[in-house]
Amino acid sequence: MRIPLGRGGSSPLWSNWARSARCAPARLVRAAQEQDIVDAIGYAKSRGLRLRAAGTGHSFNPIATTDGLLLDMTGYNGIVALDPTTPSVTVRGGTLLRELNWALDKAGLALSNMGTLEEQTIAGAISTGNHGSGLHHAPFSGHVLGLTLVTADGSVRSCGPDHEPDLFRAAVTSLGALGVISTVTLRCVPKFNLRVTEGSRPLDSILEDIEAYAGSAEHATFSLKGWSDNASTLKLEPTDAPVSPDAARLRRANTLGEVRCATAGLAGRVDQRFVQRFMTAQVGGDSGPADYVDVSYNAFTFPQPVKFLSLEYALSLDAATEAVRHVHDDVKRFGLRTPYSITVRFSTGDDYLLSPAQGRTTAYVNITVPRTVAYTELLRVFEAALRDHHGRPHWGKAHTATAATVADLYPGWKEFQDVRAELDPDGMFSSDYVRRVLGSTRGASL
Ligand SMILES: Cc1cc2nc3c(=O)[nH]c(=O)nc-3n(C[C@H](O)[C@H](O)[C@H](O)COP(=O)(O)OP(=O)(O)OC[C@H]3O[C@@H](n4cnc5c(N)ncnc54)[C@H](O)[C@@H]3O)c2cc1C
Repeated sequence: MRIPLGRGGSSPLWSNWARSARCAPARLVRAAQEQDIVDAIGYAKSRGLRLRAAGTGHSFNPIATTDGLLLDMTGYNGIVALDPTTPSVTVRGGTLLRELNWALDKAGLALSNMGTLEEQTIAGAISTGNHGSGLHHAPFSGHVLGLTLVTADGSVRSCGPDHEPDLFRAAVTSLGALGVISTVTLRCVPKFNLRVTEGSRPLDSILEDIEAYAGSAEHATFSLKGWSDNASTLKLEPTDAPVSPDAARLRRANTLGEVRCATAGLAGRVDQRFVQRFMTAQVGGDSGPADYVDVSYNAFTFPQPVKFLSLEYALSLDAATEAVRHVHDDVKRFGLRTPYSITVRFSTGDDYLLSPAQGRTTAYVNITVPRTVAYTELLRVFEAALRDHHGRPHWGKAHTATAATVADLYPGWKEFQDVRAELDPDGMFSSDYVRRVLGSTRGASL
């Protein structure tokens, strides 16, 4: 049977980046233009299939999986319009952040903030509530000035703060549950360099006044190992200084750090004591804490080829001190060591109904572990502690939250469900994951 859509065909297995979620969709279709999205929705509807859009699969959980029609958005990419006066850029939903960064750079522009990854799609980033760090910066959603969404009836709806604002508040961070994001318009800033400064200090000295630490640089982060009471600090500050000659090498050191963690994880399978020994040993070529200048998007991000699992919760900044002590104590006590760090980042609140940062200045607390079953229990212990502090799960990371555990944490939960019931009455964009975290669409037949 011909699928009247872009390129496509019957499906191979699809899996996410971490290989922690897989599916065998009834159909895998690659969108190359907006009409392909409209056609895919029409096709899925006519066959009684559910549909999920997929970006690059950089979410750690099955959020993008389906047994229905999987719409691969990565071929639907590129710049639609760039307005240097606003400045702003409109991109297709499947555009990678990396591609966007390069295009903006050429135009003398940049995004003001981002996380550590630039291999994911713009639509995937906003749909899962991506963020970087910065007490005075919103999560990635804060760049969004408007978007267009193809809904279950095949119509293309545009929305922004001044046009269909209720739809906009629901759609920016919507887990792919309201429709397929076709284009996104993002606010930009003139391109800039960042000074990257690493350091180390006692954890207690940060937790004495965590807000002061968070505000001590434009983009401040700290991280902890389970066996140490010292925190590693990372501060990024805008600067007029030129890019350092050794910037590329120092950026690569982050990648090598992850290779070292993965190797320590393997050694830990033989004997757990090797993890800490391997991570604390002085290695030839260690150049100590870095201090260098790089172009903003290279300073924010680094290549991350080594696979791992991450779980992250967004907490009110007021709750962060207690929560960090709680998880650090739990991780210290836990028999199994993870070679990776617990990482704490910050953002302002935003006003998107399902954004983990909705309505509160936020501290994000993340733990990363090797991808082996042995670490599942550590993730659960960590997650339980963060839930005690009213944490909201990062929608794209490895969590076990359900609609029952998260609904009360979102004041706009009912409003979101009303929009969902109106846009997707039959549950076309639902899936096992979506039903778990959002419940069924009211009256859904799929
Ligand atoms: C190595 C690594 C580093 C990471 N670093 C960070 C970090 O620093 N900060 C952070 O916040 N997160 C981070 N993450 C999490 C990750 O960035 C997000 O979950 C990711 O952005 C999702 O983008 P994606 O393109 O991979 O989307 P996918 O994982 O493929 O999909 C995610 C969701 O988006 C939906 N979606 C995708 N495209 C569309 C569309 N066009 N329309 C509607 N819905 C769509 C899917 O249906 C699904 O619900 C990291 C993940 C990895 C693996």
